[in-house]
Amino acid sequence: MTGAKVLLVTGGSRGIGAAVSLGAARAGYRVAVNYVSNRAAADKVVDAIAAEGGEAFAVQGDVGSVDDIVAMFEAVDARFGRLDALVNNAGIVDELARVDEIGAARLERMFRINVSGSFLCAAEAVRRMSTRHGGRGGVIVNVSSAAARLGSGGWYVDYAASKGAIDTFTKGLAMEVAAESIRVNAVRPGITDTEIHASGGQPNRIAEVRAALPMGREGKADEVADGILFLLSDRASYVTGAILDITGGR
Ligand code: NAP
Repeated sequence: MTGAKVLLVTGGSRGIGAAVSLGAARAGYRVAVNYVSNRAAADKVVDAIAAEGGEAFAVQGDVGSVDDIVAMFEAVDARFGRLDALVNNAGIVDELARVDEIGAARLERMFRINVSGSFLCAAEAVRRMSTRHGGRGGVIVNVSSAAARLGSGGWYVDYAASKGAIDTFTKGLAMEVAAESIRVNAVRPGITDTEIHASGGQPNRIAEVRAALPMGREGKADEVADGILFLLSDRASYVTGAILDITGGR
């Protein structure tokens, strides 16, 4: 496997990130599986990749911490010696709240993890991948949300606004590095079956909204991962600055 392309997936331990990590390993990537606190989940992904003959390692780091981000990329350098792709997947929601109930501390955390985290990880990746910096090029996929379009009024407008920032960031960075052999795209998942809803205090959210979804069902993590894997692949060689809705029509 030495010499194979290297992908870092933030939040690769669970949900959509875990599905991307597994799928990317099957596509031949060596994978750095980032997690923040659930070491066991990250190890499970790494073990599943190894069981299929792939290569991966778990790397702890909070994308809400600049120091952790720097250390995480240095750990990837030390382990693999190259970087070819980044999936900015780590993200959080919070409990349901109206805008007039959201305080500065919650807002700061939401934007630090969802926006600054993706921004700073992309900056580290560009420094390694851009031909301007002596790199061999690469690809970045950001994970936005249909919430960026829909606004999530009555649910969590702060989360939706953080994903709106990801859409704009995707467009802007794509233009900035297009001539430096780096493609930058995003996916906007709709409601997807992962543990994120329970982490926001809404374990029954999917069951509550399912009937109102256009296809009458939620998405699966693998279905979102497939879109991300396409954008990572050479089949998307002329795709940059694009935002792919994976929402079942929502
Ligand atoms: P999830 O099941 O809750 O998994 C979250 C992952 O992110 C875990 O691997 C977690 O690590 C990691 N993580 C959380 N905070 C982190 C931090 N500060 N630093 C580093 N890693 C962190 O989430 P998901 O549903 O797969 O969501 C993945 C992405 O898709 C998010 O950006 C989310 O906004 C977006 N999205 C999800 C949906 C949906 O319906 N599920 C819809 C639209 C968009 P640990 O395992 O260590 O906790």
